[in-house]
Amino acid sequence: MAEHLKIIAIEKETHDVLHITTEKPENIKYHAGQAADISINKPKWENELRAFTFTSLPTDKQLEFTIKTYPQHNGVTNQLLTLKTGDTLLLHGVFGTIAYKGEGLFIAGGAGITPFIAIFKQLERDGKVGDNKLLFANKTHADIIQEKRYKALLGKNFINILSEEKLEGFEYGYISEGLLKQHLNATGYVYLCGPEPMMNAVEKQISNLGIKKEQVVKEVF
Ligand SMILES: Cc1cc2nc3c(=O)[nH]c(=O)nc-3n(C[C@H](O)[C@H](O)[C@H](O)COP(=O)(O)OP(=O)(O)OC[C@H]3O[C@@H](n4cnc5c(N)ncnc54)[C@H](O)[C@@H]3O)c2cc1C
Repeated sequence: MAEHLKIIAIEKETHDVLHITTEKPENIKYHAGQAADISINKPKWENELRAFTFTSLPTDKQLEFTIKTYPQHNGVTNQLLTLKTGDTLLLHGVFGTIAYKGEGLFIAGGAGITPFIAIFKQLERDGKVGDNKLLFANKTHADIIQEKRYKALLGKNFINILSEEKLEGFEYGYISEGLLKQHLNATGYVYLCGPEPMMNAVEKQISNLGIKKEQVVKEVF
């Protein structure tokens, strides 16, 4: 049986990213980095399941989701744009392989930041942000989710790369071996989450740089 999640707030976080806060059913258990299969409680949409990550913390009294929408086609995320406070989502199950194991380099592409939003919240709450680094790849400056927050939290350990916009203070192009080499710690963990082509390219690059499979924590979006 799916759990009903009543929407408490739904707002735009960037031009195409929604931040949704819902009530939290008592029996929902998850760890920072995990996701759930979610659908919309509306005729024709109840069985259209999509994976979305909890960007709230397990101890929070509400659930939060941070969702990149694709308004150009009639998928689930486009439908989410029509929802309002009081509407309900359906939660079908919790899953996901990303979990914090120790200090390292977090590499996110677009909505691939979402498991790391939860993990960095947890680290901040526990006073354990330490020397963790976040390398965030986006198309343009306007696509960066929570830029101010990560600048304040991580300072120089927050590195942005843009593939479609050249700006001072931002890396330009796709993630390269050279860029990774500057920020990797040979013995630390590498957390990787994003679209498949980015994941494949980065996995090859970090392997060339001597990172072993056991050091990599990943999820394809
Ligand atoms: C474990 C996990 C956790 C996730 N967590 C999150 C999260 O927290 N936040 C988040 O934003 N995403 C997350 N994702 C990704 C998310 O599940 C997908 O982006 C979502 O399913 C898209 O749903 P959709 O119905 O709108 O698009 P779908 O129809 O499922 O299409 C998905 C992709 O195909 C492209 N596409 C398909 N058809 C067309 C078309 N006709 N025209 C143009 N483009 C098209 C879309 O651009 C999109 O990139 C997660 C994925 C996984 C596996």
